Amino acid sequence: MTINTVTVVGGGTMGNGISHVCATSGLEVRMVDISQEALERGLATIEKNMDRQVRKERMTEEEKASALDRITPFTDPAQAAEGAGLVVEAIPERAELKYELFRTLDEAAPAETILASNTSSISITEIAARTQRPEKVIGMHFMNPVPVMKLVEVIRGLATDDETTGTIMDLSTRLGKTPVEVNDFPGFVSNRVLMPMINEAIFALMEGVAEPEAIDTVMKLGMNHPMGPLALADLIGLDTCLSILEVLHRELGDDRYRPCPLLRKYAAAGWLGRKSGRGFYNYDG
Ligand code: NAD
Repeated sequence: MTINTVTVVGGGTMGNGISHVCATSGLEVRMVDISQEALERGLATIEKNMDRQVRKERMTEEEKASALDRITPFTDPAQAAEGAGLVVEAIPERAELKYELFRTLDEAAPAETILASNTSSISITEIAARTQRPEKVIGMHFMNPVPVMKLVEVIRGLATDDETTGTIMDLSTRLGKTPVEVNDFPGFVSNRVLMPMINEAIFALMEGVAEPEAIDTVMKLGMNHPMGPLALADLIGLDTCLSILEVLHRELGDDRYRPCPLLRKYAAAGWLGRKSGRGFYNYDG
Protein backbone atom coordinates (compact mmCIF):
# COMPACT_ATOMS: atom_id res chain seq x y z
CA MET A 1 0.00 0.00 0.00
CA THR A 2 1.41 3.42 -0.96
CA ILE A 3 0.78 6.25 1.43
CA ASN A 4 0.37 9.78 0.11
CA THR A 5 -1.46 11.55 2.94
CA VAL A 6 -0.39 11.42 6.59
CA THR A 7 -2.27 12.85 9.52
CA VAL A 8 0.03 13.69 12.44
CA VAL A 9 -1.83 14.14 15.72
CA GLY A 10 0.04 16.34 18.21
CA GLY A 11 2.14 19.29 17.07
CA GLY A 12 4.62 19.30 19.98
CA THR A 13 8.28 18.29 20.08
CA MET A 14 7.78 15.07 18.11
CA GLY A 15 4.67 15.88 16.09
CA ASN A 16 6.18 18.92 14.40
CA GLY A 17 9.34 16.94 13.59
CA ILE A 18 7.32 14.08 12.08
CA SER A 19 5.25 16.58 10.05
CA HIS A 20 8.50 18.20 8.89
CA VAL A 21 10.07 14.99 7.51
CA CYS A 22 6.80 13.80 5.94
CA ALA A 23 6.36 17.15 4.14
CA THR A 24 9.97 17.30 2.92
CA SER A 25 9.55 13.73 1.60
CA GLY A 26 6.66 14.81 -0.62
CA LEU A 27 3.71 13.59 1.47
CA GLU A 28 0.59 15.64 2.10
CA VAL A 29 0.51 16.33 5.84
CA ARG A 30 -2.39 17.19 8.11
CA MET A 31 -0.94 18.43 11.37
CA VAL A 32 -3.37 18.35 14.27
CA ASP A 33 -3.21 19.82 17.75
CA ILE A 34 -6.13 20.48 20.06
CA SER A 35 -4.33 23.63 21.15
CA GLN A 36 -4.30 26.39 18.52
CA GLU A 37 -1.30 27.93 20.26
CA ALA A 38 0.66 24.63 20.14
CA LEU A 39 -0.26 24.27 16.47
CA GLU A 40 1.10 27.73 15.65
CA ARG A 41 4.23 27.08 17.71
CA GLY A 42 4.71 23.76 15.90
CA LEU A 43 4.39 25.36 12.46
CA ALA A 44 6.84 28.12 13.46
CA THR A 45 9.33 25.47 14.64
CA ILE A 46 9.06 23.61 11.32
CA GLU A 47 9.72 26.82 9.40
CA LYS A 48 12.70 27.70 11.60
CA ASN A 49 14.16 24.18 11.20
CA MET A 50 13.67 24.30 7.42
CA ASP A 51 15.41 27.71 7.35
CA ARG A 52 18.40 26.05 9.00
CA GLN A 53 18.37 23.34 6.31
CA VAL A 54 18.31 26.04 3.61
CA ARG A 55 21.26 27.83 5.26
CA LYS A 56 23.18 24.54 5.30
CA GLU A 57 22.27 24.05 1.61
CA ARG A 58 20.43 20.81 2.32
CA MET A 59 17.26 22.30 0.83
CA THR A 60 16.42 25.15 -1.55
CA GLU A 61 14.02 28.03 -0.81
CA GLU A 62 11.63 26.54 -3.40
CA GLU A 63 11.72 23.11 -1.73
CA LYS A 64 11.07 24.74 1.62
CA ALA A 65 8.09 26.68 0.25
CA SER A 66 6.51 23.62 -1.35
CA ALA A 67 7.09 21.46 1.77
CA LEU A 68 5.40 24.11 3.94
CA ASP A 69 2.56 24.27 1.41
CA ARG A 70 1.96 20.54 1.89
CA ILE A 71 1.20 20.99 5.62
CA THR A 72 -2.41 21.78 6.50
CA PRO A 73 -3.20 22.60 10.15
CA PHE A 74 -6.23 21.12 11.94
CA THR A 75 -7.57 21.26 15.50
CA ASP A 76 -9.95 18.29 15.19
CA PRO A 77 -8.27 14.84 14.97
CA ALA A 78 -11.42 13.13 13.61
CA GLN A 79 -11.77 15.60 10.75
CA ALA A 80 -8.06 15.34 9.91
CA ALA A 81 -8.17 11.52 9.87
CA GLU A 82 -10.78 11.37 7.09
CA GLY A 83 -9.10 10.22 3.90
CA ALA A 84 -5.61 9.74 5.38
CA GLY A 85 -3.58 6.65 4.43
CA LEU A 86 -1.76 6.79 7.75
CA VAL A 87 -2.31 8.52 11.07
CA VAL A 88 0.71 8.99 13.34
CA GLU A 89 -0.19 9.86 16.92
CA ALA A 90 2.26 12.02 18.92
CA ILE A 91 0.23 13.30 21.88
CA PRO A 92 1.49 13.19 25.51
CA GLU A 93 2.66 9.88 26.97
CA ARG A 94 -0.52 9.14 28.93
CA ALA A 95 -2.29 5.85 28.21
CA GLU A 96 -5.89 7.05 28.77
CA LEU A 97 -5.36 9.99 26.40
CA LYS A 98 -4.02 7.69 23.70
CA TYR A 99 -6.77 5.06 24.17
CA GLU A 100 -9.45 7.72 23.76
CA LEU A 101 -7.78 9.21 20.71
CA PHE A 102 -7.42 5.80 19.02
CA ARG A 103 -11.12 5.10 19.58
CA THR A 104 -11.91 8.41 17.88
CA LEU A 105 -9.46 7.79 15.03
CA ASP A 106 -10.80 4.26 14.50
CA GLU A 107 -14.32 5.66 14.01
CA ALA A 108 -13.23 8.54 11.77
CA ALA A 109 -10.56 7.02 9.50
CA PRO A 110 -11.31 4.76 6.49
CA ALA A 111 -11.08 1.01 7.24
CA GLU A 112 -7.77 0.64 5.32
CA THR A 113 -6.00 3.49 7.17
CA ILE A 114 -3.01 2.44 9.30
CA LEU A 115 -3.03 3.90 12.81
CA ALA A 116 0.48 4.37 14.23
CA SER A 117 1.64 5.59 17.62
CA ASN A 118 4.90 7.37 18.39
CA THR A 119 4.61 6.22 22.02
CA SER A 120 7.87 5.72 23.89
CA SER A 121 6.57 2.98 26.17
CA ILE A 122 2.82 2.37 26.10
CA SER A 123 1.80 -1.07 24.83
CA ILE A 124 0.88 -1.09 21.12
CA THR A 125 -1.14 -4.25 21.77
CA GLU A 126 -3.26 -2.43 24.38
CA ILE A 127 -3.76 0.62 22.15
CA ALA A 128 -4.75 -1.69 19.26
CA ALA A 129 -7.29 -3.50 21.45
CA ARG A 130 -9.27 -0.23 21.70
CA THR A 131 -9.86 -0.31 17.93
CA GLN A 132 -11.72 -2.53 15.46
CA ARG A 133 -8.53 -2.87 13.36
CA PRO A 134 -5.78 -4.20 15.67
CA GLU A 135 -3.95 -5.67 12.65
CA LYS A 136 -3.51 -2.12 11.28
CA VAL A 137 -2.18 -0.60 14.50
CA ILE A 138 1.60 -0.29 14.87
CA GLY A 139 4.31 1.63 16.71
CA MET A 140 6.33 4.14 14.71
CA HIS A 141 8.84 5.40 17.26
CA PHE A 142 10.80 8.34 15.87
CA MET A 143 13.75 9.79 17.74
CA ASN A 144 14.25 13.40 18.83
CA PRO A 145 15.08 15.62 16.93
CA VAL A 146 13.13 13.87 14.16
CA PRO A 147 14.64 15.71 11.14
CA VAL A 148 18.13 14.71 12.30
CA MET A 149 17.85 11.24 13.84
CA LYS A 150 17.96 8.26 11.49
CA LEU A 151 16.18 5.58 13.53
CA VAL A 152 12.53 4.59 13.44
CA GLU A 153 11.79 1.75 15.87
CA VAL A 154 8.86 -0.07 14.24
CA ILE A 155 6.88 -1.90 16.90
CA ARG A 156 4.63 -4.83 16.10
CA GLY A 157 1.71 -5.31 18.46
CA LEU A 158 0.49 -8.84 19.04
CA ALA A 159 -2.07 -8.55 16.22
CA THR A 160 -0.15 -6.29 13.78
CA ASP A 161 -0.06 -7.99 10.37
CA ASP A 162 2.82 -8.37 7.90
CA GLU A 163 1.27 -6.01 5.35
CA THR A 164 1.01 -3.15 7.86
CA THR A 165 4.57 -3.77 9.08
CA GLY A 166 5.88 -3.85 5.50
CA THR A 167 4.10 -0.62 4.57
CA ILE A 168 5.54 1.20 7.62
CA MET A 169 9.06 -0.19 7.04
CA ASP A 170 8.88 1.04 3.40
CA LEU A 171 7.46 4.43 4.36
CA SER A 172 10.16 4.96 7.01
CA THR A 173 12.79 4.31 4.34
CA ARG A 174 11.02 6.77 2.03
CA LEU A 175 11.32 9.36 4.84
CA GLY A 176 15.12 8.86 4.74
CA LYS A 177 15.13 6.86 7.98
CA THR A 178 16.43 3.42 8.95
CA PRO A 179 13.57 1.33 10.34
CA VAL A 180 14.24 -1.45 12.85
CA GLU A 181 11.51 -3.98 13.63
CA VAL A 182 10.96 -4.92 17.28
CA ASN A 183 8.23 -6.65 19.27
CA ASP A 184 5.87 -5.02 21.73
CA PHE A 185 7.39 -5.17 25.23
CA PRO A 186 7.54 -2.34 27.79
CA GLY A 187 9.94 0.35 26.59
CA PHE A 188 10.64 -1.68 23.40
CA VAL A 189 14.44 -1.75 22.92
CA SER A 190 15.31 1.96 22.96
CA ASN A 191 13.80 3.06 26.25
CA ARG A 192 14.29 -0.20 28.07
CA VAL A 193 18.01 0.35 27.67
CA LEU A 194 18.15 4.18 27.77
CA MET A 195 15.83 5.08 30.65
CA PRO A 196 17.56 3.06 33.39
CA MET A 197 20.78 4.89 32.45
CA ILE A 198 19.12 8.32 32.63
CA ASN A 199 17.42 7.37 35.93
CA GLU A 200 20.74 6.23 37.41
CA ALA A 201 22.36 9.53 36.40
CA ILE A 202 19.56 11.37 38.27
CA PHE A 203 20.10 9.17 41.35
CA ALA A 204 23.82 10.01 41.16
CA LEU A 205 22.92 13.72 41.09
CA MET A 206 20.43 13.37 43.97
CA GLU A 207 22.94 11.48 46.12
CA GLY A 208 25.56 14.17 45.53
CA VAL A 209 27.95 11.93 43.61
CA ALA A 210 28.66 14.79 41.20
CA GLU A 211 27.26 17.97 39.61
CA PRO A 212 25.20 17.68 36.38
CA GLU A 213 28.06 18.89 34.18
CA ALA A 214 30.43 16.36 35.75
CA ILE A 215 28.02 13.45 35.28
CA ASP A 216 27.43 14.37 31.64
CA THR A 217 31.13 14.91 30.94
CA VAL A 218 32.03 11.47 32.34
CA MET A 219 29.51 9.84 30.01
CA LYS A 220 30.49 11.94 26.98
CA LEU A 221 34.25 11.67 27.23
CA GLY A 222 34.44 8.34 29.04
CA MET A 223 31.80 6.39 27.15
CA ASN A 224 31.89 8.31 23.89
CA HIS A 225 28.22 9.32 24.12
CA PRO A 226 27.44 12.37 21.96
CA MET A 227 25.41 13.83 24.80
CA GLY A 228 25.33 13.27 28.57
CA PRO A 229 22.29 11.52 30.15
CA LEU A 230 21.03 14.62 32.00
CA ALA A 231 21.23 16.85 28.93
CA LEU A 232 19.47 14.09 26.99
CA ALA A 233 16.72 13.88 29.64
CA ASP A 234 16.21 17.65 29.29
CA LEU A 235 15.93 17.20 25.52
CA ILE A 236 13.42 14.35 25.79
CA GLY A 237 11.35 16.16 28.45
CA LEU A 238 11.40 15.21 32.14
CA ASP A 239 7.64 14.51 32.18
CA THR A 240 8.12 12.09 29.28
CA CYS A 241 11.07 10.38 31.05
CA LEU A 242 8.97 10.00 34.21
CA SER A 243 6.03 8.51 32.31
CA ILE A 244 8.29 5.97 30.56
CA LEU A 245 9.94 4.90 33.82
CA GLU A 246 6.53 4.49 35.45
CA VAL A 247 5.48 2.17 32.60
CA LEU A 248 8.70 0.12 32.88
CA HIS A 249 8.35 -0.10 36.66
CA ARG A 250 4.70 -1.13 36.57
CA GLU A 251 4.77 -3.45 33.56
CA LEU A 252 8.04 -5.24 34.29
CA GLY A 253 7.42 -5.24 38.05
CA ASP A 254 11.06 -4.73 38.96
CA ASP A 255 12.27 -2.03 41.37
CA ARG A 256 15.34 -1.38 39.29
CA TYR A 257 13.04 0.78 37.11
CA ARG A 258 11.64 2.89 40.01
CA PRO A 259 11.71 6.58 39.00
CA CYS A 260 14.19 8.65 40.99
CA PRO A 261 12.42 10.96 43.51
CA LEU A 262 14.41 13.91 42.14
CA LEU A 263 12.93 13.30 38.69
CA ARG A 264 9.43 13.31 40.23
CA LYS A 265 10.23 16.56 42.03
CA TYR A 266 11.44 18.32 38.86
CA ALA A 267 8.41 17.14 36.87
CA ALA A 268 6.06 18.28 39.67
CA ALA A 269 7.73 21.71 39.67
CA GLY A 270 7.17 22.04 35.92
CA TRP A 271 10.94 21.87 35.30
CA LEU A 272 10.52 19.74 32.20
CA GLY A 273 13.80 20.44 30.43
CA ARG A 274 14.30 22.40 27.24
CA LYS A 275 10.62 22.77 26.45
CA SER A 276 9.93 24.64 29.72
CA GLY A 277 13.25 26.53 29.76
CA ARG A 278 14.57 24.69 32.82
CA GLY A 279 15.46 21.13 33.77
CA PHE A 280 18.83 19.87 34.96
CA TYR A 281 20.19 22.85 33.02
CA ASN A 282 18.85 26.35 32.48
CA TYR A 283 17.80 27.25 28.94
CA ASP A 284 16.66 30.84 29.46
CA GLY A 285 17.99 32.82 26.54
P1 NAD B 1 4.71 17.37 23.65
O1 NAD B 1 4.15 17.60 25.02
O2 NAD B 1 5.84 18.20 23.17
O3 NAD B 1 3.53 17.51 22.54
C1 NAD B 1 2.27 16.90 22.65
C2 NAD B 1 1.24 17.75 21.92
O4 NAD B 1 0.00 17.02 21.84
C3 NAD B 1 0.91 19.09 22.62
O5 NAD B 1 1.14 20.14 21.71
C4 NAD B 1 -0.58 18.95 22.99
O6 NAD B 1 -1.28 20.18 22.87
C5 NAD B 1 -1.07 17.96 21.96
N1 NAD B 1 -2.26 17.18 22.35
C6 NAD B 1 -2.62 16.72 23.57
N2 NAD B 1 -3.75 15.98 23.48
C7 NAD B 1 -4.12 15.99 22.17
C8 NAD B 1 -5.20 15.41 21.44
N3 NAD B 1 -6.11 14.65 22.04
N4 NAD B 1 -5.28 15.64 20.12
C9 NAD B 1 -4.35 16.41 19.49
N5 NAD B 1 -3.30 16.97 20.12
C10 NAD B 1 -3.18 16.76 21.45
O7 NAD B 1 5.07 15.81 23.60
P2 NAD B 1 6.22 15.08 22.71
O8 NAD B 1 7.53 15.18 23.40
O9 NAD B 1 6.09 15.54 21.31
O10 NAD B 1 5.76 13.55 22.84
C11 NAD B 1 4.72 13.01 22.06
C12 NAD B 1 4.83 11.50 22.05
O11 NAD B 1 6.08 11.12 21.46
C13 NAD B 1 4.80 10.84 23.43
O12 NAD B 1 4.11 9.63 23.36
C14 NAD B 1 6.27 10.63 23.73
O13 NAD B 1 6.48 9.55 24.64
C15 NAD B 1 6.79 10.27 22.35
N6 NAD B 1 8.24 10.48 22.14
C16 NAD B 1 8.85 11.58 22.64
C17 NAD B 1 10.21 11.77 22.42
C18 NAD B 1 10.92 13.00 22.93
O14 NAD B 1 12.15 13.01 22.92
N7 NAD B 1 10.20 14.05 23.33
C19 NAD B 1 10.93 10.84 21.65
C20 NAD B 1 10.26 9.74 21.11
C21 NAD B 1 8.91 9.56 21.37
